[in-house]
Amino acid sequence: MRLTASDIYSYYRPSRCTLRPYLKHKGVAEAEPGAYVQLILRLGERHEQSHLASLGTFADLRGGSIEERQATTLAEIKKGASIIYQGVLKATESIKGLSCEVVGIPDFMIPQANGTYAIRDSKMSRRITEDDHPEILRQLRLYGWLYERNIGRAPAELQVHSGTGQLIDVVYDHGKSAWQCLHEIAVNVEADQEPYEPVGWSKCDDCGFKDRCWGLAEKTKDVALVEGVDQGLSIALRRMGIKTYPELLDKFNVESLSIVQKPHGAKMQRVGKKAESILRMATALARREEIIIEPPAVPRHENYVMFDLEGLPPQMDEIDKIYLWGMQVFGQKPGAFLPATSSFGEDGDREGWERFLTNSKAIFEEYGDIPFVHWASYEKTNLDKYVQRYGDEDGIAARVRTNLLDLLPITKRSVALPLPSYGLKVIEKYVGFKRTQEEYGGDWSMAKYIEAIETHDDKLRAQLMNEILTYNNEDLQATWAVLQWLLRK
Ligand code: SF4
Repeated sequence: MRLTASDIYSYYRPSRCTLRPYLKHKGVAEAEPGAYVQLILRLGERHEQSHLASLGTFADLRGGSIEERQATTLAEIKKGASIIYQGVLKATESIKGLSCEVVGIPDFMIPQANGTYAIRDSKMSRRITEDDHPEILRQLRLYGWLYERNIGRAPAELQVHSGTGQLIDVVYDHGKSAWQCLHEIAVNVEADQEPYEPVGWSKCDDCGFKDRCWGLAEKTKDVALVEGVDQGLSIALRRMGIKTYPELLDKFNVESLSIVQKPHGAKMQRVGKKAESILRMATALARREEIIIEPPAVPRHENYVMFDLEGLPPQMDEIDKIYLWGMQVFGQKPGAFLPATSSFGEDGDREGWERFLTNSKAIFEEYGDIPFVHWASYEKTNLDKYVQRYGDEDGIAARVRTNLLDLLPITKRSVALPLPSYGLKVIEKYVGFKRTQEEYGGDWSMAKYIEAIETHDDKLRAQLMNEILTYNNEDLQATWAVLQWLLRK
């Protein structure tokens, strides 16, 4: 078996999953990476190349077989003169009696005055911590272990050239944390049976095996499909012999489910008050029909503003940034789509915010206090963030905040849906809303926006921005469709 540093990556990214490296080792077909993943890869490559260019001359060890590259890497290390780019370090290790070849390809190996090398990887990530990127720390430590195995002494440094351009030191643990992960992967790959891994809506969303795993989970009525049954509870129930939601309904009532213990971080926790809602959701799934819990607490108004933001996470920009503040009034007196986009210049972020405040002010002048309807907490969080960043001189943002109406908790409290998620994109389909664009989504929109920033072709930029605006406008229409559906309950 060949284990590589990429196995550690696929164990943790896009979400922690023991099944993903197993499926990769077994050669199971995976979906092509989407526009967002391709964008990240492209930006990562550019980041790495710009760092390489800053280092001066180097020995380029790309190309050739692993064995040839390993031999050249060791020869270069022996000379101790050059920076080594994409060298190969390889060793053999026994796991439970099984001989494993372990391979690592660090981006840079940099000779030091004391005759050893610093090992460095270039990463787009800006927060290199155990919580944010355990895979990066483990990959570097694996390189350190491979270096020590081959050279007989520890590397001088392990470093990450991060998305901020800083060099972050990684503490060397002689490969211990990397090996915990690789050991689990190797044991799983060698086992007779595929390891069980519960599906999860956000966990599986960006994974190349999503169609495969969700198809199987739906076919087998996996208990993990029940909204409210988290990863820990899925595993705890499985250990009790409960694999499906019909079995859950068959074996438990609210009282008996509430005392089931599930892992929660390092501790165990009772299901408690969530038991009632879990069993209701399982019933909705089993019957394939919705269950009304209480009338939706939507205040009656003649008009409502649908409100939806598109943003970039901090690894994509200097700051986490909202590049589109979308709004539109629906109801008895509908208004035009009011997108406030950030411009591409230096003050673009502030200008986008100010346009949003101007649009909001115009809405208040025409409609008075009117609910700003949104889905989940992103809009509220970013409103607060931008007030902190740029202020709110006329109190418009404060007025928007007072009028915010989050439809997600209202929907959850009022109706149990026969669906595995309460994401807007899932519920809009359920209520019959249809989009015009084949490809869409928050990640897709981010990828299009970055493409628009980077292009020098004005026509292409306008076309990309139009696609993003259409996507955001359809998000608003979808939210309105869900609101109307709720109002009919
Ligand atoms: S789809 Fe979900 S369960 Fe399947 S490999 Fe990916 S993250 Fe794991």
